Amino acid sequence: MMKIAVLPGDGIGTEIVAQAVKVMEALRSDGLKIELEYGHIGGAGYDAAGDPLPAATEKLAQQSDAVLLGAVGGYQYDTLPRPMRPEQGLLRIRKGLNLFANLRPALVYPELVDASSLKPELVSGLDIMILRELTGDIYFGQPRGIRTLENGERQGFDTMHYSESEIRRVAHVGFRIAMKREKRLCSVDKANVLDTSMFWREIVTEVGKEYSEVELSHMYVDNAAMQLVRAPKQFDVILTGNIFGDILSDEASMLTGSIGMLPSASLDANNKGLYEPCHGSAPDIAGQDIANPLATILSVAMMMRHTFAREEVAQRIETAVRRVLQQGLRTGDIYQAGMQKVGCNAMGDAVVKSL
Ligand code: NAD
Repeated sequence: MMKIAVLPGDGIGTEIVAQAVKVMEALRSDGLKIELEYGHIGGAGYDAAGDPLPAATEKLAQQSDAVLLGAVGGYQYDTLPRPMRPEQGLLRIRKGLNLFANLRPALVYPELVDASSLKPELVSGLDIMILRELTGDIYFGQPRGIRTLENGERQGFDTMHYSESEIRRVAHVGFRIAMKREKRLCSVDKANVLDTSMFWREIVTEVGKEYSEVELSHMYVDNAAMQLVRAPKQFDVILTGNIFGDILSDEASMLTGSIGMLPSASLDANNKGLYEPCHGSAPDIAGQDIANPLATILSVAMMMRHTFAREEVAQRIETAVRRVLQQGLRTGDIYQAGMQKVGCNAMGDAVVKSL
């Protein structure tokens, strides 16, 4: 039984998750054993239980094999004190589930090649997987703060560190993913300047010896940022730390030009995962049935691949998405002249139909 926690969240979250649920229900009626249970998170959690991550939701997530999340955030919550803000729910659930491996594919569909800001020949056929370490690095390092120096000047400071076990476990995830793809892994660091990066490179190289089939390369992050816009197709899997991954994964996602198409996964050591679209709750278009549900539907495909090891189901979903694009169906965000504009609901129905 696949036990899946469904957390729609706020804004367009409820609309897009409803489409992904339709897809899962269709798979279930074809015999897949799926159990869905709903919970509140973000502003919806605050409204329901006075907490962006209510205890019931936390428990549900802990007891599930995987979590499907829509998005959190909304104007009405912007003035709440920080611990009550929607994004705290997201940070807390990621931390509580110990999700250290963040997977962000950047994939350009042939039908959407013109949505990229790069020339079609640079991005057509692009298929990169960025693996970002998510629970360590300078974002969590202590000490940090703002202090006053002896000369009276104030100074802000943070601490970057990575322990060997943190690097090892994410490196293993990277090599295992590369094994299922083109078997090329590029580890990105700043080893020419940072000791943390020198150590990162040493450990990744060591782990790489266990995966002799995977071609390992190393690249400095400044060069990687350039290469991503110069010749992005040179990459297969990019493995990197939290802060570099934060920046590079956003850069790579823009190569595809369509934020409504991008799924993501965050995994723990046992492949339990939280799956969500890369975009936010889009309060500007919430409730209008115009949001693109494909990123969320593609997040279910990632869930089937990474948590449940059901590659054939993952491909079935991805093929269905490709087919609706080939049929010319487009939500507003990816609309081009000559195509057929559809709403969120109709897009979900079309994917179910072409499953
Ligand atoms: P956003 O991603 O919500 O929206 C950016 C733009 O893209 C908007 O114009 C929006 O209409 C459009 N867009 C996003 N997803 C779309 C979709 N599926 N279909 C069609 N158009 C789509 O980012 P934002 O506007 O900066 O943030 C809005 C809220 O979302 C804020 O409260 C923010 O904190 C939150 N947020 C949440 C997450 C998350 O839940 N993971 C991520 C980013 C932002």
